[in-house]
Amino acid sequence: VPIDVVPGRKRRIGIMGGTFDPIHHGHLVAASEVLSVFNLDEVVFVPTGRQPYKRDRKVTLAEHRYLMAVIATASNPRFSVSRVDIERGGTTYTIDTLRDLRKAYPDADFFFITGADVLPQILEWKDSDDLWSMAHFVGVTRAGHQLDTTGLPPEGITLMEVPAMAISSTDCRARVASGVQPWYLVPDGVVQYIAKYRLYKEV
Ligand code: ATP
Ligand code: MG
Repeated sequence: VPIDVVPGRKRRIGIMGGTFDPIHHGHLVAASEVLSVFNLDEVVFVPTGRQPYKRDRKVTLAEHRYLMAVIATASNPRFSVSRVDIERGGTTYTIDTLRDLRKAYPDADFFFITGADVLPQILEWKDSDDLWSMAHFVGVTRAGHQLDTTGLPPEGITLMEVPAMAISSTDCRARVASGVQPWYLVPDGVVQYIAKYRLYKEV
């Protein structure tokens, strides 16, 4: 009997929030690695809501970011995309994401997947004390990268090395802006979606 159909076993759900502007193979490889190491049943990608600006840059319409995430994950039966942050609107806070997903998965164990470099910022997130009780945090990092975990509760966090850590959305956008298609950095369907809607023509 496969582990995920053992009666009474709690479902294990990975949650990967992000701007996904655009989603790339770094996100997908990280999700896939965490899924297998933590024996997850599913990883839910959650594109942030309307974020008019991020570090002074215009963020692409949520609907485009959502559809690229759907295209990128469509072939994997264990990947899905949630609209909770898009539909809530306003600034996305992780605590709200976790509360909304809890309604959809009342009995599951949550594993929040994030770049390890973002982990220290979690302490500054809204209601950060409550976060630790709502999910286990998995910080993905690149090989050999040292991380300062001062102030973070050691039992609430696991750090994991993943390949493809060097890929970033910023770099993908910069390539497109300079006229180069981001083949192999993002899934083929996402390369084609970017071209079709002429996204990232300017950085
Ligand atoms: P940007 O360059 O615009 O900041 P990004 O590539 O960091 O984009 P985000 O949507 O901001 O992508 O990231 C969503 C989540 O995925 C964050 O937790 C981030 O740390 C993580 N992440 C980003 N790139 C990678 C990667 N190459 N490998 C693993 N995780 C990643
Ligand atoms: Mg980032």
